[in-house]
Amino acid sequence: MTVREILHVGNPLLRELSREITRDELASPKMQQLIDDLIDTMHAANGAGIAAPQVGELVRIATIEVTDNPRYPYKPRIPLTVVVNPVVEFLDDEMVDVNEGCLSVPNMRGNVLRHVNIRVRYWDRHGVEHDEIKRGLTAGTFQHELDHLDGVLFLDRVHDTRTLTTWEQFERYHRAAFVERITAFVERVGS
Ligand code: ZN
Repeated sequence: MTVREILHVGNPLLRELSREITRDELASPKMQQLIDDLIDTMHAANGAGIAAPQVGELVRIATIEVTDNPRYPYKPRIPLTVVVNPVVEFLDDEMVDVNEGCLSVPNMRGNVLRHVNIRVRYWDRHGVEHDEIKRGLTAGTFQHELDHLDGVLFLDRVHDTRTLTTWEQFERYHRAAFVERITAFVERVGS
């Protein structure tokens, strides 16, 4: 088990465009080790996802998993998913206003508009092609992680900087209203 250091906002690597990898590279011990490291690091940090540039590797790989996550208890579960060379397509203009945080932006949360219905095509860690529809908060989680591969942080998408809070102040002043709104959304959309 290798937990890697997570880069924090201000590190220039978080602002780079990550490159696609070939199937041969994906099969290599180095890339498989990186995937294992991403999973270990995501678990150790209780993240809902992590992208390779967050550990300083500029390749288009991310891992996503939501179980009983203390950072995001209202998020619907997502099984462990390894996403390689993803391509996202927005299916319509429906948006949801989501309060997000990020392992690379310590102790900060803010509101971001995400597409509710997306199609995502990617390879898994074995190079098997996937073509899936994601909806709701799950779609938002995918968009957050895939943004990292383009050097984009959730901070860039915060539409009203007055929604920025520390985690402590979120718990104190904003959590109840957000959870009520987002729980109703999750019940309507189903994910
Ligand atoms: Zn992030």
